[in-house]
Amino acid sequence: MTNKYGRQFLQIPGPSNVPDRVLRAIDQPTIDHRGPEFQELALGLLERVKKAFKCSGPVVIYPSSGSGAWEASLVNTLSSGDKVLMVETGEFAVLWRNIALKLGLDVDFIPGDWRQGVDPQTIKDKLAADNNQSIKAVAVVQNETSTGVVSDIAAVREAIDAANHPALLLVDVISSLGSNDFRHDEWGVDVTIGGSQKGLMLPAGLGFNAINEKAIKASANATLPQSYWTWSAILESNRNGFFPYTPATNLLFGLDEALNMLFEEGLENVFARHARLAAATRCAVNAWGLENLALNPHEYSNSLTAVLLPEGHDADVLRQLILENFDMPLGTGLGKVKGKVFRIGHLGWFNELMLAGTLSGVEMGLALSDIPFNPGGVQAALNYLVENTE
Ligand code: PLP
Repeated sequence: MTNKYGRQFLQIPGPSNVPDRVLRAIDQPTIDHRGPEFQELALGLLERVKKAFKCSGPVVIYPSSGSGAWEASLVNTLSSGDKVLMVETGEFAVLWRNIALKLGLDVDFIPGDWRQGVDPQTIKDKLAADNNQSIKAVAVVQNETSTGVVSDIAAVREAIDAANHPALLLVDVISSLGSNDFRHDEWGVDVTIGGSQKGLMLPAGLGFNAINEKAIKASANATLPQSYWTWSAILESNRNGFFPYTPATNLLFGLDEALNMLFEEGLENVFARHARLAAATRCAVNAWGLENLALNPHEYSNSLTAVLLPEGHDADVLRQLILENFDMPLGTGLGKVKGKVFRIGHLGWFNELMLAGTLSGVEMGLALSDIPFNPGGVQAALNYLVENTE
């Protein structure tokens, strides 16, 4: 039977733990979403949320999960049969590709080994070879939540520019926003796709499209069928602080408070905290003698670490053992790495002692299992934290 005493450690890589401040902000009486109180909230939020994306253009907010925001990015900018360049970084790239295929887009899916990020040189070569500029968009995931690998978005932008190609750049930051640095304007991203339930520390239920002028221009000619997702109707209503349909008002209360928390800490400090906790996690993994699925140190994720188990051991059995004995859900392996990896989420509302508890749960689970490992991972992480105190 699962241990149910004390607080559960939810260490999946999103939905992440929701801070008490945000829970209290959400717990408010319903207000009229066509009244002045809502209008003031929305006008403030639509402006403030831009800072999280480092963008100056509008951010469209949907009452949706991240998948809705994915679909929105495609239907607003593209037409049936348009060619899209995507990269198989992991399961979330696959799922986004599947949406594109269902919409009737012609996807060139660059294969990947699920252990490395986007190779900018391949993007450059593909675009340079596209003489008649039939590729209309390059769509990549910044932080692949199934693998714990981060791709270099600035380098993807440089690759597109180096090929002198007009394709739009669409970037999924669903598990990197508020955890790994991201710069919509500076990196020349045309559409950024976000979700509420990870670094933004909210429950699932808000999807985001941060968009620039080039994307808005493209949307004027896009002919994929769309209604619920149409930017123009939302932007029009947003000008006065309203939405064309019922917004997720209480999640917007929560977003307001989550932004307060992120900006009080300072975004750069938020990223540094995530980087430090991620580095400590990797110290534990190394000390256990286990392997990080992410191959390249410069692509390690701040949000999560995917731990590869030795051949012949099922990661889901270990996860189940840890859940039953220590009430800690860890992320399961997805798609091609199902059963091979478990994922430790270290994002959002998270600190040193929460990490110490998380790693202790993993180490105790390893000790209960028949997986060969070296004890001492928790101590290695604690040593790192002490030696790298701010
Ligand atoms: N993209 C990434 C990188 C994700 O991690 C997720 C969900 O975990 C999604 C997209 C899909 O978002 P949702 O499950 O909220 O629809």
